[in-house]
Amino acid sequence: MSNDDNSDENRDLLEIPCRKCGQKHNYLLDVERSYVVYNLMSTHQMKPVKKTFTRIFICPIKDQEFQVTFSLIQSFGTIIRNVVVKGVKDGGEKETDSEQE
Ligand SMILES: [Zn+2]
Repeated sequence: MSNDDNSDENRDLLEIPCRKCGQKHNYLLDVERSYVVYNLMSTHQMKPVKKTFTRIFICPIKDQEFQVTFSLIQSFGTIIRNVVVKGVKDGGEKETDSEQE
């Protein structure tokens, strides 16, 4: 239930256990979604589907790249077209529009 923060609509936050330093980092993802309208014949697709992506992440502590395969939930009426890793979410950043906690 957000008011006017549409710019964050496509931002997902993903926590990844880092292979380089063993800690967990929160990465910002830019998720390209397409919204589709299913017809009534497609009711068997009502269940959310997991879609798997493999992307390169950079450990902010070791400054090294590592590859991670992760899944995002593709909810009904939505197709995830692409995911871009935007970088690490700064832990010191103020969470003004936090809906996660
Ligand atoms: Zn790390």
